Amino acid sequence: MSQEEITETIEVLMLSILITRRRRECHGKERSSTMAIDPVCHMEVDERSAAGQSAYQGTTYYFCSPGCREAFEKNPGRYLPKTTGLLGQKTQSDR
Ligand SMILES: [Zn+2]
Repeated sequence: MSQEEITETIEVLMLSILITRRRRECHGKERSSTMAIDPVCHMEVDERSAAGQSAYQGTTYYFCSPGCREAFEKNPGRYLPKTTGLLGQKTQSDR
């Protein structure tokens, strides 16, 4: 893993923490702009300023970073809400 990748990973992690804190502070505050949920890290992403997007099975997903988009495209089924607990067979393979 290169130094750049490590730095990027750390930045994404810190961003996630910041956003999570902010979301708690602003709980219940709804915005008029269209917010999508990044299926990989579950961050809120503004569709207009998303770092990446990917169309899968007729739905467009938005991502906070190119890394999240790549992860999604490598294995979309893993990140889709549909698969979560639908049959109960993926429950233990989460990690
Ligand atoms: Zn993300």
